[in-house]
Amino acid sequence: MSTEIQDHLRYWQERLRVQDWDVTLRVLRYHEMGEGLLGQCFRNDASRTAEIRLLALEDVSGSVTPPGRDLEVTLVHELLHVLFHGASDETENRIAFEQAIDATARALVELDRGASVLLEGE
Ligand SMILES: [Zn+2]
Repeated sequence: MSTEIQDHLRYWQERLRVQDWDVTLRVLRYHEMGEGLLGQCFRNDASRTAEIRLLALEDVSGSVTPPGRDLEVTLVHELLHVLFHGASDETENRIAFEQAIDATARALVELDRGASVLLEGE
């Protein structure tokens, strides 16, 4: 697995303040993931452990991936599921919840990249 995505995991765990969770990252091929899934998060709230599965980049095609979506956005999306472990995300409003998580993940990564672009430009 690329160290870059592991670095992203550490970075976002810190920023989202979920460092107390033991998060394992696995990058899987499409046949190992559920149909049409870019990422999955399996959480054990009692032991504060989670396994985040990301679809391998080579299997992410333009047709299934919404624009602006990449591995880091998917990672942040799944980490937000860890952060919101106390919230009821298994409700009938599942789709609305997923959309809110996704918009938040995108905004965070966009803001983060904007900030680093500004710093590099100085
Ligand atoms: Zn989700």
